[in-house]
Amino acid sequence: MAVMGLGRSGQATARALRHGGARVLVWDDAPAKREEATAQGWEVTDLTALDWRDVACLVWSPGIPHTYPAPHPVAKAARAAGVAPVCDVELLMQTRPSARCIGVTGTNGKSTTTALIAHILASAGFPVAAGGNLGLPVLAFPPLEDDGFYVIELSSYQLELTLSLALDGGVLLNITPDHLGRHGGMAGYVAAKSRLFDGLKPGGTAVVGADDDASSALGARLQERGLNVIPISARPPFGVHGQPFGVHGTTEGLLVDEASGAPVADLVPALALPGRHNAQNAAAAAATLRALGLAPTLIAAGLQSFPGLAHRQERIAVIDDVRYVNDSKATNTEAAEKALGCYDPQTVYWIAGGQAKEGGITALAPLFPRIRHAFLIGEAAPALARTLEGKVPFTLCGTLSVAVAQAHTMAVRERRSGAVVLLSPACASWDQFDSFEHRGTVFRELVTALPGQRTGERAGEKEICAS
Ligand code: ADP
Repeated sequence: MAVMGLGRSGQATARALRHGGARVLVWDDAPAKREEATAQGWEVTDLTALDWRDVACLVWSPGIPHTYPAPHPVAKAARAAGVAPVCDVELLMQTRPSARCIGVTGTNGKSTTTALIAHILASAGFPVAAGGNLGLPVLAFPPLEDDGFYVIELSSYQLELTLSLALDGGVLLNITPDHLGRHGGMAGYVAAKSRLFDGLKPGGTAVVGADDDASSALGARLQERGLNVIPISARPPFGVHGQPFGVHGTTEGLLVDEASGAPVADLVPALALPGRHNAQNAAAAAATLRALGLAPTLIAAGLQSFPGLAHRQERIAVIDDVRYVNDSKATNTEAAEKALGCYDPQTVYWIAGGQAKEGGITALAPLFPRIRHAFLIGEAAPALARTLEGKVPFTLCGTLSVAVAQAHTMAVRERRSGAVVLLSPACASWDQFDSFEHRGTVFRELVTALPGQRTGERAGEKEICAS
C-alpha cells in the first residue's frame, strides 16, 4: 500500500494500514516530512520511481493537487499502471463496521455542521465519531456498531478520491466559487461536490442548501433523479422546490419545518450559533437528523446546548459587561463579514489585520457602521487603515497584545450596551503566528489575563441578526 502525503491524515492512514498487516510505502514531496518519517521507521520510497505492479492501493492526501493545475507525477504514474488514487475515506468505506454514516460538504460551514450533528447525536446518547477533512482523521475513528454514527466532513478533494461512498445522509450546505484552480473551473467544483449524492445509500437523504444558485440547481436535479431531497434555507420566503426546511425571519430566530409550518427549534438560546450563516448550519443538522428519525425534542435540545467550535465566533468571556469573541478563523473578508453582521451599530471593538488578502476589506464597507473602533495589527494594518480612513476610527496597534489591551481599555471606559471586542481579522495569520489556531489561542490567553469582573452571557442578547 502506498501513502502519498504525510500530514495528519497520511500518518493516521499509514498507521492504520500497518496495524492491518500491510507493507506500507510512504512518500511526501517535502524532504523534511520524508526525513521525519524515516526517523520514525517508515519505509520511505520514491513513488515517482516505483514499479506500480506490486502496489495494491495508493492512498492520496487530499490536500495535494493530483490533476489540476498539472497532473502530479506520482498520480500520473499510478494511473498509467491502473492504480487510481483514493483517500482515507475510501478505506473507511471499504472496511467500516455497521455504523451509519453522514457526510457534510459545502464551501463554508462544514466543520460547524459536522460538529453540530455529532454533538446532537452524542447528547441524545448515540455513539459518535466525527472528523475527516478537519479534526480526527477518519482512519483514527473508533469502530462503531449499528447503533453508532460516523459524521464526516468531506472536502471536494476528498469526494473526488472516494469511490465507494455509502451515506445514510448527505449534506451540501452551499457552493460559492473557491478552489477553482484545482477543479478546473466552477463546473468541476460543482461536479466534485455533487459526488456526495452519488454516494447516498438507497433510501438515504440528501439535504441541500437552497440559498445559492449552484446548490439550489443541484438540489432540483437530484429531485428529478428521484432522490429523497430536503432543501434547507436560512432565509424566508422559502418556496423552493419540494418542501423546504428553514429558518423563519431573523429576529424570531426560529427553525421552522416549512412543510407543516411547525417550529423545530428556537435558535435564540443557541448562543454558539449566531448569525444567518449558522441558521443554515442548524437547519441542515436538524433536517438530516430528523430524516434519520431523531426525536424533534432531542434535536432542539442539542442545537441549544452546542458549545461551538474554537476560533469560530467563540465566546471567550464577558468581562465588565464587555463580550470577547475569538473569530480567528476569519482569515478572509467573507468570514469577517459574517461575524461583524452579528452585532448592533457602534458596538464592535474590532481587532483586524495580519497578512493581507487580495481585495482588502473594501467589501466590508456596509458593515462599517457597526464598528465603534478598529484596532489594527500586522502587515496589513496600513492598507486596512487606508480603507477605514474617514469612515471608522482606528488605532495602529502592531501586535495582538497591544490591540487587546487598548480595545479592553476603550470598551470598559465607554460602557456601551452590547459592547463586544471581536477578533475577526479578515487576514491570514502567517505574518505573526503559526496558524489561525495559534492566533486564536494567544487571543484567548490575553483575554483570560485581563482584569475585571467576569459574568455569564447576558439574557436577551441579540444573537440572531438581520445581516
Ligand atoms: P469550513 O469547515 O467549511 O471551513 P467552518 O464551519 O469552519 O467552515 O466555518 C468557517 C467560517 O465560515 C465561520 O467562521 C463563518 O465565518 C463562515 N461560515 C460558517 N458557516 C457558514 C455558512 N453556512 N455559510 C457561509 N459562511 C459560513
